[in-house]
Amino acid sequence: MMAPRIVVAGSANMDLVGIAERLPLPGETVLGDDFVMMPGGKGANQAIAASRAGGHAVFLGAIGSDSFGVTLNARLNAAGVDTGHLRTAYGASGVAVIMVDRAAENSILVAPGANSMFTDLTGDEERVIAGGDVLLCQLEIPIDTVAAACKAARAGGTRTILNAAPARELPSDLLADVDLLVVNEVEAQTITGSERPDMAALLALVPRVVLTLGGAGSRYAERDGRDETVPAFPVEATDTTAAGDAFTAALAVAWGEGRDLMEAVRWANAAGAACVRKLGASNALPTRDEIDELYTS
Ligand code: ADP
Repeated sequence: MMAPRIVVAGSANMDLVGIAERLPLPGETVLGDDFVMMPGGKGANQAIAASRAGGHAVFLGAIGSDSFGVTLNARLNAAGVDTGHLRTAYGASGVAVIMVDRAAENSILVAPGANSMFTDLTGDEERVIAGGDVLLCQLEIPIDTVAAACKAARAGGTRTILNAAPARELPSDLLADVDLLVVNEVEAQTITGSERPDMAALLALVPRVVLTLGGAGSRYAERDGRDETVPAFPVEATDTTAAGDAFTAALAVAWGEGRDLMEAVRWANAAGAACVRKLGASNALPTRDEIDELYTS
């Protein structure tokens, strides 16, 4: 079978992670234990996850003209992501400065840098989107760009998945071009403006919804159709970072392969579970074999 083309239009950041016994207070300096640097940003993470899950992942976005941009590009390529249409914007790459203490509590500062310059889709970018099987977007780039990408997908017959993270309200012109919305409970509350995530309210906005429920799995519902909760695969959770990215990317790959959405959600649950078993973010994203192994266990 041909690998489905998954076009991810989203953010790329360099994650700079410092680990210390405790987080510094304002104005304080703390000597740390360790430092690691790795590619991050939901867009880049989901592109890498889609590639590992067996998709032909194409990443659209903007990296900076600094050395982080060079490294981000190299890491995406090494993961098998097609970066041939990735923009380089003059200036700084997106960076997340992350401090983590030994109890895994964290403080994070994100400087979007080049991500905020990913505006006004080019004709080339629109053609890439129209040529995909699935377009996958998140909300770490300008919202007008997300809307334009979904519009280009709709015009080109490409299915659209919006992972509405981080949480924010969504303009109706964007929602009109979303085929499948993937949200956790907090995001569902923000979008509907209601305390209790209400599936009917979400289905009034988009035709298909996947609600991720952490260790309880996920729930898939469609307008005038199925509404089922799919339990999580029982694993020992070590680190839930990037579980949502692994889940969403696997869902895109399975849907792009033409699998039924109910089955795609179950397979995505296996991807999320395989991710939480491992420590770390992009390095914990599971391969297709790891997902299949858990799926068939
Ligand atoms: P987010 O990080 O976006 O809030 P979730 O925490 O809901 O996303 O996780 C996404 C998916 O990963 C879940 O729907 C589930 O399939 C899987 N997952 C998350 N936590 C666990 C866990 N403790 N055990 C098994 N699967 C998990």
